[in-house]
Amino acid sequence: MTDPTPLYNETRDLAAALNLPAFERGWVWLAGAGPGDAGLITVLGAHAIQSADVILHDALINETLLGLARPGARLVYAGKRAGVKSCKQSDISRTLVSLAKRGRRVLRLKGGDPFVFGRGGEEALALTRGGVPFRVVPGVTAGIGGLAYAGIPVTHRDTNHAVTFITGHGADGHLPKLDWDAVAKSSPTLVLYMARRTAGEIAAKLIAAGRAGDEPAAIVSSASMRGQKVVETTLAKLGETATGAGAAIIVIGENVRLRKGLDWLGAMSGRLLEPYPLGRDRLRDAG
Ligand code: SAH
Repeated sequence: MTDPTPLYNETRDLAAALNLPAFERGWVWLAGAGPGDAGLITVLGAHAIQSADVILHDALINETLLGLARPGARLVYAGKRAGVKSCKQSDISRTLVSLAKRGRRVLRLKGGDPFVFGRGGEEALALTRGGVPFRVVPGVTAGIGGLAYAGIPVTHRDTNHAVTFITGHGADGHLPKLDWDAVAKSSPTLVLYMARRTAGEIAAKLIAAGRAGDEPAAIVSSASMRGQKVVETTLAKLGETATGAGAAIIVIGENVRLRKGLDWLGAMSGRLLEPYPLGRDRLRDAG
């Protein structure tokens, strides 16, 4: 007889070796699955998948991870995609509360980190209000880990001492109401989530506030997944380049130039990396 979930048995010992907390009945764990590559889930996240009775998961998670679930666990798709209201947020929250009250070990598994533009806070507050105990398991967020898979460090001493994370998609579906002049001036690197549709509008606001049109930018789609694609462009051309479907992280800033020297995935398929992507003078040790 073949074991339907062989991964389950192979990885269980790690939880014991690391003395991870037990997933108690009647609890909800709100966990991040990372941006795509199955290996980017945390050990605690993997342990949660193995222990859960019910797993409510997003569209953006790597399905291979669900193979870690114990035999008999219930897997429920509870995703939301831009434009497609597949599941109402209030329904998801209500389901979490009612399953926990029935004594289930409930895992809410979300893409990336549950508290980064992922409505994790809303779901956790519903648990607080419902009197359900919960644990939050952070994950690798796409705006950091996804960029690393593109060979773009989210901070680098020679290019940016700060970074700002922005959603291109506010609660009403439009550009969030931000002080765009302040955003343009505050941080040399901007990382945009859910911004394919609004990228042109954002770029125009940033340029109007003084950012250079020839500033480098990149669009990283399906980051850390098999179909990962990275397109380098400029701030002025961002709107026309960012169009298309599928999840994408957009990064604007001089740190994008480092990709020439750090595209480690590209190097695996033969790309020659430049040892001084910013030029030799930028590499002096600033101490
Ligand atoms: N909580 C998630 C973000 C959810 S919002 C996190 O921490 O990563 C959904 C947005 O995340 C997408 O529109 C996209 O901008 C980004 N995203 C998530 N996974 C991605 C991936 N593998 N590649 C590129 N962008 C991704």
